[in-house]
Amino acid sequence: MSLKLDGKKLSLEIEERLSNYVSSNEKIAKRAPGLAVIRIGEDPASGVYVKNKEKACSRVGIKSFIFHLNENVEQNKVEELIRKLNFDKDIDGMLLQLPIPEKFNEQRLISYIDPRKDVDGLNETNIGKLVKNEPAMRSCTPAGIINLLRSHNITIEGKKIVVIGRSLLVGKPLSLMLLNLNGTVTMTHSKTKNLNEVCKEADILIAAAGKPNLINSSFVKEGAVIIDVGIHRLNSSVKNKTKLCGDVLLEDVIPKVFAYTPVPGGVGPMTVTMLLVNTIFSWQKQFGLLSTLNDLLP
Ligand code: NAP
Repeated sequence: MSLKLDGKKLSLEIEERLSNYVSSNEKIAKRAPGLAVIRIGEDPASGVYVKNKEKACSRVGIKSFIFHLNENVEQNKVEELIRKLNFDKDIDGMLLQLPIPEKFNEQRLISYIDPRKDVDGLNETNIGKLVKNEPAMRSCTPAGIINLLRSHNITIEGKKIVVIGRSLLVGKPLSLMLLNLNGTVTMTHSKTKNLNEVCKEADILIAAAGKPNLINSSFVKEGAVIIDVGIHRLNSSVKNKTKLCGDVLLEDVIPKVFAYTPVPGGVGPMTVTMLLVNTIFSWQKQFGLLSTLNDLLP
């Protein structure tokens, strides 16, 4: 029987460690860790994600500061807010909830975030350090995937790993992190020829294409590990109901693989947990606290 890589369970275990870490260090730091979340506009999915982040913060003792801006706000006002938060002594981490309305220059806003507070790991300083394999804030979804693999003793070193997708958010940073951990990584995208054949070579196949049920068993080598990053809400046959699915047609693939991530409950919960980890790391650095959480860094 194939192994389910249970991100929900692992995220709860990590949250318990984080919560203990915060409560035992809060007296030394004289304040809780702080995370600022900037949301612009009314994208409903963003609203749900921000609420989830807020709840997760409160579970481990991080104080969250939510800045919900009207989409009519000017770019320079958002830049001003980011600059102010960079200097705010109660804030250890800051993120811009994506997507934001198109009129904004997203990359410019991200580049204004102090790299030490860039808990999404998307600032060019942090990306540059990732390329150079130097310690820095790492982006959350890739870091969560690496924790999931490690916690199940799935070796990365020497493995043939195929990543489907080359976005700045997932595919590229993930490929670099896996390369830094000595995986033999192939990055694929929408122009890749014979994707099916390339994927079949993989010991570890990671699907982050954002295409529902793209990957079926014909893409997968017998005994491979499959990680499904995609998340899609589809109409189900039961009336007025929707169903979550990933990029992988799981029921077709599971009998063939050694291990897989479910959707929901696989990569998703780990992404939020790594945001908490990054915020607490920034707090730890700020106050020179004992580093007992290093195994959580990719
Ligand atoms: P994205 O920015 O749309 O990037 C998708 C990537 O997949 C692109 O590089 C694209 O290639 C490639 N691609 C698209 N169709 C393909 C195909 N048929 N064959 C091969 N490659 C293909 O998406 P993203 O932000 O990386 O997110 C990917 C998925 O992960 C989405 O479903 C998103 O919702 C999900 N996600 C989940 C989490 C989580 O926590 N679970 C976090 C982040 C994202 P080109 O570059 O050539 O266009």
